[in-house]
Amino acid sequence: MKSSQQIKTMREALLGWYAQEGRTLPWRIRPEDRAAGVVADQYKIWLSEIMCQQTTTTAASAYWHKFLQTWPTVQDLATAPRDEILTAWAGLGYYARARNLHKCAEIVCDDYGGVFPDNEAELLKLPGIGAYSAAAIASICYNEATNVVDGNVERVISRIFRVEAVMPKAKPEIRALAASLADPKHPGDYAQALMDLGAHICKPKNPKCTQCPWQSECAAHKFGTMTDYPRRKAKTARPVRYGAVFFIEEAGHIWLRQRPDNGLLGGMAELPGTDWTGEKPNVDIWLAQAPIKSNWQQVEGEVKHVFTHFTLYLSVFKGQVGAEKFEIRAAMNRFDKYALPSLMRKAIALARQQ
Ligand code: SF4
Repeated sequence: MKSSQQIKTMREALLGWYAQEGRTLPWRIRPEDRAAGVVADQYKIWLSEIMCQQTTTTAASAYWHKFLQTWPTVQDLATAPRDEILTAWAGLGYYARARNLHKCAEIVCDDYGGVFPDNEAELLKLPGIGAYSAAAIASICYNEATNVVDGNVERVISRIFRVEAVMPKAKPEIRALAASLADPKHPGDYAQALMDLGAHICKPKNPKCTQCPWQSECAAHKFGTMTDYPRRKAKTARPVRYGAVFFIEEAGHIWLRQRPDNGLLGGMAELPGTDWTGEKPNVDIWLAQAPIKSNWQQVEGEVKHVFTHFTLYLSVFKGQVGAEKFEIRAAMNRFDKYALPSLMRKAIALARQQ
């Protein structure tokens, strides 16, 4: 634990650094904006927080602008067809976020009169808003003195205090230490300053300690062991899965189907395909799962796609359609209309090369 004088000095140093060096992001209310009377728009902040979960701010920015152009208010988003939201989300990944985005907008409109709740506890009840997002939205929009802790903040705090417990067991200790530093007078600016410090200075592999406003208070820096924290167990290899998809092109259209709502890529469109298994099966086992009988030809090469918990290798088969009807007949020149995840876009590109 730091003394109250150390904590005061650390808060001032961080906020001073943030005022000079903090990022300017399209949705961000910077200290000078606040001073000029600009207030945060909860809808815009909520959208940015959901999009930035598991996505870089650079990638999220383009989507954030597109969503606001298409659905300028939470009411517009709530009344939009869910398929259109999934389609606009395509490429951003982790599609449960898009489904929850829609659900959350509906609840905000139906139960809260179109205004996001003004405190962390109530925000936490909404779909898609976890502990980190609730704390971030409450501090940025409502200046609530919350404790905003994501992976970046965990790294900074574990280094400052040399937290020896191994992740994820160390999380409660790190949260408590983060809370001891959090500034109740400037919660929004402090939270964003700490996020920036974690993202741009206290980097996982090469922390830029010489530029860090907390260098003199950092125990890991003192011992030269910055990259030893946070402590982690040795990594196990990411498991591999195999599957196949079936590509049928006919008169400028291809056949797609919709995945079930629950589970990976839920509600998205896909090429019809097989189960994904830990062992690569015999081709006949795959072909037995084809949606129709056809003279299937295997395309050379395969698509590799890395999910959080496994790597998928997808083989692609091409065939001709008979009189069969499929769920979705998708025009090749109007793919923007379909909620196609990048995995399926890669498979279609491979099929069309040959
Ligand atoms: S001094 Fe280095 S390791 Fe410590 S918080 Fe700053 S950037 Fe991270």
